[in-house]
Amino acid sequence: MTAPDVETVVVGAGVVGLAAARALALAGHDVLVVERHAAIGQETSSRSSEVIHAGLYYPPGSLRATLCVEGRRLLYDFADAAGVPVVRCGKLLVAATAEEGPRLDALAVNARACGVSDLVALSAAEARRLEPELACAAAVLSPSTGVIDSHALMVALEGHLRAEGGSVVLNHAVEEIGIGRDGAFELTIATGTQAPSRLSARNVVLAAGLGATRLGERAPRRAAYRVPEVYPARGHYYALASPAPFRHLVYPMPETGWLGIHLTLDVSGRAKFGPDLEWQASLNTQHYEPSYVFDEKDGARRTAFEEAIRRYWPGLPGNALEPAYVGVRPKLYKPGEAAPDFAIHGHAQHGIERLVALYGIESPGLTSSLAIGAHVAAML
Ligand SMILES: Cc1cc2nc3c(=O)[nH]c(=O)nc-3n(C[C@H](O)[C@H](O)[C@H](O)COP(=O)(O)OP(=O)(O)OC[C@H]3O[C@@H](n4cnc5c(N)ncnc54)[C@H](O)[C@@H]3O)c2cc1C
Repeated sequence: MTAPDVETVVVGAGVVGLAAARALALAGHDVLVVERHAAIGQETSSRSSEVIHAGLYYPPGSLRATLCVEGRRLLYDFADAAGVPVVRCGKLLVAATAEEGPRLDALAVNARACGVSDLVALSAAEARRLEPELACAAAVLSPSTGVIDSHALMVALEGHLRAEGGSVVLNHAVEEIGIGRDGAFELTIATGTQAPSRLSARNVVLAAGLGATRLGERAPRRAAYRVPEVYPARGHYYALASPAPFRHLVYPMPETGWLGIHLTLDVSGRAKFGPDLEWQASLNTQHYEPSYVFDEKDGARRTAFEEAIRRYWPGLPGNALEPAYVGVRPKLYKPGEAAPDFAIHGHAQHGIERLVALYGIESPGLTSSLAIGAHVAAML
């Protein structure tokens, strides 16, 4: 093989692509991140709840469980060392009624099986001593749940990458990936104005989030390999106009496919609520461009939020919610189907050496980002 232009290309400058690029640079790779937008982190990574999850919800032994628990540890250490704002505020997972008690207990059992050993079971009175405005039948305190400034995290990851000799190129969209005669990957890259350019690379990581399926279909693979389909599901957030009367995050019992409308705080203490779950009519990212427009649905969305929030905070004042932002989950399943694991595919799956493709990195992808980065670096 003649020397390729770059040793390793990472497609996508979201938190996962940047974390993978940093891990690869630290492992000695010459790394270039290619991002289609004019800035890093413009899609899912800047539109999340910004929660550092403890790892309560996922099947024990799954990538989501193991990378979340490991990623949480790595993320707190990284944030402390790099000066990224984090708050270890803890979270209350609440059973709003006695009927929900068994689901709360089952989640605590699942969390312990995932390696989360610090949960504290609370009666309603004990929970109210922590949060006087809270209404619940019982709760579980997760002390190791926290929040992080996700944009500062991405800026820090990019800084570390550059310090290790890596770089990021913006406004460049990877359109196609082939394999040249010398065995290196050949990427066709659109810049918007000029004719597409070509770049060769020894290794490629696809961390393209909602664009993963579209790109995976234009990358080399064995004939029998089926590129996972990513199904977008929007989630809206409302911010609380007044100061938050809570110091902990508050989560209801999870619903199928999502965690329910929860209360989260940003690192400055401002409360926001969400995300709801709205599957997209166009259910495959092959022909999908995410829309981040906040649609109030003539007040119906606000009413649904207020009803959900008042189950655990009956004192929510009227007209206290302000539309905030929308995020889009890159799910690997359709409504009604069971949530599969993160798909981190290498040679064993798609049959191509030196190509790692990530699909369906929804929550807890932010928490897991550094652990995913280390996992990807180990695969290459
Ligand atoms: C509503 C919501 C709430 C969430 N809450 C949490 C939470 O509280 N805690 C948590 O741990 N996780 C949470 N997550 C999950 C977390 O945000 C994601 O797992 C994570 O941000 C995924 O990062 P990514 O880098 O894979 O994707 P992205 O951030 O989407 O980055 C992919 C990048 O690839 C670029 N790209 C795509 N195609 C191309 C191409 N062809 N060429 C060049 N660039 C391309 C895109 O422009 C984008 O910048 C949440 C997600 C959502 C949607």
